[in-house]
Amino acid sequence: MMRHTVRVLALLCLLAGPAGISRAENVPANPRFAEVAQKLDAGGETYVYMNAKDGMRNIVRTLRTSLAPEGADPSVIRGFDLADKMLESLGLYSIEDVGASAVRQPNGLYHCKSYVRIPEGRKGVLKCLGGAPHACEALKYAPEDTVLFWSEDVDLATLLEAVQTGLQESQFQEAQGMLLMGLGQVDTALTGIAGKSLTLKGALDSLGGEITFIAGLDPLKRVQVPASPAGPLSFAYPKAVLMVRTKDATLYELAVKTLSMHDPSTTETVEGGVRKFSIPVPIPPDFPYELKPVIAQNGQYFFLATQPEYLNQILETSRGGKNLAGAAEYKELTANLPQQGNSFSFASKRFAQEVVSAVETFMKALSEIQPHQRWSAMQVSILRNLQKVPVLGSASVRVNEAGGLLVLKNSPGNDAMAAPLAGVAVAGIGAAVAVPGFIKARTTAQRNTCRENLAKMDGAKEQLALEKNLKEGAEVKWEDLIAAPDGSGGYLRKTPVCPKGGTYTIGKIGEVPTCTCGARLP
Ligand SMILES: [Zn+2]
Repeated sequence: MMRHTVRVLALLCLLAGPAGISRAENVPANPRFAEVAQKLDAGGETYVYMNAKDGMRNIVRTLRTSLAPEGADPSVIRGFDLADKMLESLGLYSIEDVGASAVRQPNGLYHCKSYVRIPEGRKGVLKCLGGAPHACEALKYAPEDTVLFWSEDVDLATLLEAVQTGLQESQFQEAQGMLLMGLGQVDTALTGIAGKSLTLKGALDSLGGEITFIAGLDPLKRVQVPASPAGPLSFAYPKAVLMVRTKDATLYELAVKTLSMHDPSTTETVEGGVRKFSIPVPIPPDFPYELKPVIAQNGQYFFLATQPEYLNQILETSRGGKNLAGAAEYKELTANLPQQGNSFSFASKRFAQEVVSAVETFMKALSEIQPHQRWSAMQVSILRNLQKVPVLGSASVRVNEAGGLLVLKNSPGNDAMAAPLAGVAVAGIGAAVAVPGFIKARTTAQRNTCRENLAKMDGAKEQLALEKNLKEGAEVKWEDLIAAPDGSGGYLRKTPVCPKGGTYTIGKIGEVPTCTCGARLP
């Protein structure tokens, strides 16, 4: 039996307006829905479609209507126009549709798919998510007992370029100026460290467009936290490495030079073509975790590892040791996922178990420390979620396609709802990009209004002094300046109010009026 549900998020409707989400009955009218549906699985628990083409613009428009109504300060309206242009030039409006599905499988996992339809191809910041799908190279570095693996195609040089172009096209002068100044400072700092001319763009161009995170749990060691009133707490001993694909050793050399400046006692070692440099970290003697960070470079990757032993394990694995791809759990979790992609993630059941048991121990300890205190709503919801989601592993692959991005995932929870939420998050990024400019524009407008008030007060005092023949130093009261309720007398129609909430001091004759908000007469 087909169970076909189209869930409508009230929040999205609220933000995106009625055109933002298609209800089931409207769907046939939208031919783009069929294109998205083709990428997804019908008949599952969840089936979501969001018309992002109109949705994202609608979100900006809705925010504009509510935050900057007709007759609002022109600088505020300008802020929203800029946000609109910025989203356009960052390429975020090129996302036309977002869809997601989740089908529960016999093994208890949900097979989730989400598709972001970008028919004209990825533009702006979306270009930084890599090129054609490929096999996961970094997987060769992940030891067989890896509990957490995440490798993502991300081109930071393209991202920087897209933001710069976006700012240029949006004619957002203040932000452009700030970015140029910031970049200038970064370039100067980089050149200073490198000892040769180096720009941020140059440094980013030396990267290979992929970032990977690998973590393991030591089966023989546990981190003991003795100082808990509920008795000793312990959790599995974590070890991790961050790998950044590189074209050359620019990043590594920058890191070594920066670290050497602070502590010249440490030196580089070279072993089998791998350059290594330990990071001196002062750790108190009774600290329960042995952190000995090390950076390294092997020609293909820059590494940052929590312990040199773990770095060695990673490097040995890459030289033909047993890797994650051969692990039974990994094979099982990725069996129905594509081999070629642009982002690969894996979390083992062991990791999920450790997280659940650590949170449970922590919560138990918390309730023993505060037996009389009622649990907060957040604590209750964390516990409930822990009990609800089965302790299973998860894996996902993102595939770059010509007309969009496809993400496939096997997960213990139903993640399909994450896709439309991601859409909102993207719109949120746009809003976040716009908000600093918006706030700045509003602050400037408020200061100008306050200054105008001060100028009016100053003018009123001058007229009062002339008419009443007051000398310098004579006291002035509000009653002397403000017109009576019937409009007679006075020099100001009503008491001025500072838009920033400041308090005015009229001052004596010969003094300038002031405001506590900091605005001042020139
Ligand atoms: Zn003021």
